[in-house]
Amino acid sequence: MNPKSPFYKIEELKQRQSMSTVVFWKYRPLDERALAELARHGMTRIELLESPEQFDMSDKRSMTHIGEAFRSYGIQVVAYHAHMTNFSNLDTEAKRKAHVDFCRKQIDTMVELGGKAWGTHACETDDTLLKCYSELARHIEGTEVVILIENFKDKGLWVEDRLSFLDKMNHPQVGMILDIGHVRDRDGVNPMTVPGGPTAVIEMCRRHLRHVHLHGFKDGLDHYPPLCEGDTIQWLELFRMLYSVGYPGDINFESKGEPKHLNTIEATAGALERIVAMDAGTRGKRDQLTPGKV
Ligand SMILES: [Zn+2]
Repeated sequence: MNPKSPFYKIEELKQRQSMSTVVFWKYRPLDERALAELARHGMTRIELLESPEQFDMSDKRSMTHIGEAFRSYGIQVVAYHAHMTNFSNLDTEAKRKAHVDFCRKQIDTMVELGGKAWGTHACETDDTLLKCYSELARHIEGTEVVILIENFKDKGLWVEDRLSFLDKMNHPQVGMILDIGHVRDRDGVNPMTVPGGPTAVIEMCRRHLRHVHLHGFKDGLDHYPPLCEGDTIQWLELFRMLYSVGYPGDINFESKGEPKHLNTIEATAGALERIVAMDAGTRGKRDQLTPGKV
């Protein structure tokens, strides 16, 4: 890509930045200290990870409590990541309908909190999923909400498989979460770590790309803090591509925190400045940086 192409301004990236609560997953409750820590580092937009031991995304009263807690720290819930919600084992029409109803309730509580992106792991892209997602798409027509499906490294769940499902869906409000750590090629390599890879993957996603899960990748493992020591993601190429295709979604980070990784929130909060600095560095114009910001 031409290094003289225009690039994001840090202010725009910061406005669109969000962070998954996976950073606290299985280790810390979403209590006042957790919310204060996010707010202190300027992480004021959140992708909420489904955590049934703490709240019920399908229950209005439960989610009103969560929404109020976040708001009291100036934090907005922008997306739900319903990672435990899938569409397997719906072997009767009654079960399928009940499950779609459950998903509708999750989407409704998200909308009440001001969120606009609801994504699942979905599992297999079979006719049951097509029927369920079609009904959910009808539920959100006329709103700004998108419903999303994420890629995984297991066979049948690759970016390519998700895209052929989305081609079949052919609905402007049903799209792709590109998880950059879950992409694999036929040799088992993550193309997001190889020069030219992010360009090929994002070109392949085309109009279906509506949300991202960004995190560091090292030694074949994902969910590291972005730009940690040894991270092999091609961050600059990735962001140049997101810019050049006019990617419309959140700049959403999904790194894990303690006990695996320390200081993940700090590393995430500083990542965008580092990426803008990388771009400025290739132009030899370091004056594009905004000094003094954390
Ligand atoms: Zn993910």
